[in-house]
Amino acid sequence: MIGNHAGVPNFDADLDSADDDTLRAALEHAEVPALLPALAGGLGDPALIPGHLRPDLSVMMDPTAGLSYQQLAEGRALALGALQRLRDDPVAPREPDVDELRTLLEFASGGAPVEEYLELLREELALGEDLRAPVWRKDALAPERPFRVAVIGAGMSGLAAAHRLRQAGLDVVVLEKNHDVGGTWLENSYPGCRVDVSNHFYSYSFAPKPDWPEHFSSQEVLLEYFSRVADDLGLRPLVRFGTEVTAIQLDDATMTWNVDLVADDGTEERLEAHAVVSAVGQLNRPNLPDILGVERFEGPAFHSARWDHDVALAGKRVAVIGTGASAAQFIPPVADQAGHLTVFQRTPAWFIPTPDYHDPVSPEAQWLFRNVPGYANWYRFWIFWRNVEGLLPAATVDPDWDGEGRSVSQVNELVRQLLAGYLQAEMADAPELLDVATPDYPPFAKRFIRDNGIWARTLRRDDVDLVTDRIAEITAEGVRTTDGTLHPVDVIIYGTGFKASDFLTPMKVVGRGGVDLHERWGGDARAYLGITLPGFPNLFLLYGPNTNIVANGSITYFSECEVHYVVGCLRRLLETGARAIDPLPEVHDAYNARVDAGNAQMAWGVSSVNSWYKNATGRSAQNWPFTLLEYWQQTRQPDLDDYEVL
Ligand code: NAP
Repeated sequence: MIGNHAGVPNFDADLDSADDDTLRAALEHAEVPALLPALAGGLGDPALIPGHLRPDLSVMMDPTAGLSYQQLAEGRALALGALQRLRDDPVAPREPDVDELRTLLEFASGGAPVEEYLELLREELALGEDLRAPVWRKDALAPERPFRVAVIGAGMSGLAAAHRLRQAGLDVVVLEKNHDVGGTWLENSYPGCRVDVSNHFYSYSFAPKPDWPEHFSSQEVLLEYFSRVADDLGLRPLVRFGTEVTAIQLDDATMTWNVDLVADDGTEERLEAHAVVSAVGQLNRPNLPDILGVERFEGPAFHSARWDHDVALAGKRVAVIGTGASAAQFIPPVADQAGHLTVFQRTPAWFIPTPDYHDPVSPEAQWLFRNVPGYANWYRFWIFWRNVEGLLPAATVDPDWDGEGRSVSQVNELVRQLLAGYLQAEMADAPELLDVATPDYPPFAKRFIRDNGIWARTLRRDDVDLVTDRIAEITAEGVRTTDGTLHPVDVIIYGTGFKASDFLTPMKVVGRGGVDLHERWGGDARAYLGITLPGFPNLFLLYGPNTNIVANGSITYFSECEVHYVVGCLRRLLETGARAIDPLPEVHDAYNARVDAGNAQMAWGVSSVNSWYKNATGRSAQNWPFTLLEYWQQTRQPDLDDYEVL
């Protein structure tokens, strides 16, 4: 209660010196359904989670989670009392036991049964010990056995793998073509680049960051996060930077992998690994469209993931080709700089209204994250829980529903109307724009894009044109559309996405009996659990086929599940003394048949709209169609009955 004037909150004060005005002001920015369990758990006081203040998660996308103004005020009053108690009579925060946790989770879940999710939620909540850390060490299982794991890539998944494998005491080398960690967050430096999953959730469960500056932070902040994780966990010494893996080839006799490397200076090298973990990502090989005449353009041209910061856009006539998630982020800042911007849109996107998309986390909320024990964990969990499976039904096909290609069920139609209503409100004064900016395919068939109003504002600018005629060719001067119009420009920026279906390219991968993986796949990549491949023993993929999520969760969650499974596989190898494990083709095939059937029930599976979710055969080779719980359960621990043990 020192250091601030009466009535003026002081967010520099810690809890023990904060006055009631500060507490009250901070609580106005609290997520009540996350704060009350944090306080109830920390103080061991169930009176802080009364049944009538439970959130109601049945209303999709409701910002107050079904709580009335009065209920929120009552929740804040309860929290105020708890914070005053904590301030005036400090107690060491306690960790709730499993039964208490169940009660707290039931509260935050609006009374829904949580039993099946309890263990998963304990891991995600990560209140105390790191429950996902390996509970074994190689030294104890096979001290004499040499076992080196080569991880390819030091992006989000590769760092997670390196951390867990090292925790198990394995000999790990990470091979990274770039000169720093961060993967996609290193390579994508385009203006406006930011994460579009709330970053309290888009972060590792084992490396929480309560002080994110924005709800959806910028690329620089994300890169800094992954860089700090690499430093704090001591992962950098494991990484060989500037080293590209060109080929991995199995030695049938020894069941080890020969990993061929080329360094930046052209030096070639081969190293041997007992297991290989590919963490090369899905979205990092730029897709430059095969539009006629691409090479003819005489001005600067570059792809969004290879942004040429030397090209000054100020005052220039700029063309942007593509209107996906990347382009939607860089088009507004490019419009601010360019003299004139022409946007070439092939398919419009559905936008999710996200008012705080570019907003900083308020000082009030930052204060709560800093000062309320467990609140940051519960807040992270709350985002996870609200998004976990709740949206999946809205993407699921009702076979009896006739949505004329524009929706796949009644609830999907409801979402469509909500999103169409948003576009109508945003473009009310520009009907011709609304007409071409409104998708005619179901929500969830392509990736959503977040928006805080900037998309419509940008397209309505006098110095921005949206062109929806198809591109016929690129000439020396610009872009010609099929109606014959030449759009003369000085710079072309390709926001044309990635070769997402070309998993593991351009690396050569040769498995048992000299089989080439890319020939085997024939452009239709599949794997068991997205992780293992018949005929390629001890090769593990992270963010492999069918591990992308559309409606639920975040990709960091999936990577952590995959890494957990890989660590479990290596444990079994060391425990049993087996040299290698190779998934049984029938297990792999049955798994993939089920995934295909699952995807055929989803909006992205049935819609004919083009998207990177599908490969050239039309199959959804990217997406996971089931619940997050199911992926967690399937990756809990390997079943050696699924494998040939060699
Ligand atoms: P994308 O979603 O594949 O979008 C590519 C765009 O280029 C589409 O608008 C596509 O049109 C257009 N295009 C492609 N070839 C074309 C051609 N020949 N002529 C005209 N237009 C063409 O790629 P992206 O925007 O880079 O995003 C890819 C994924 O990266 C996202 O879905 C997301 O998962 C991830 N991402 C995430 C964030 C984030 O904030 N976390 C940000 C950016 C990207 P069609 O739609 O007609 O195919």
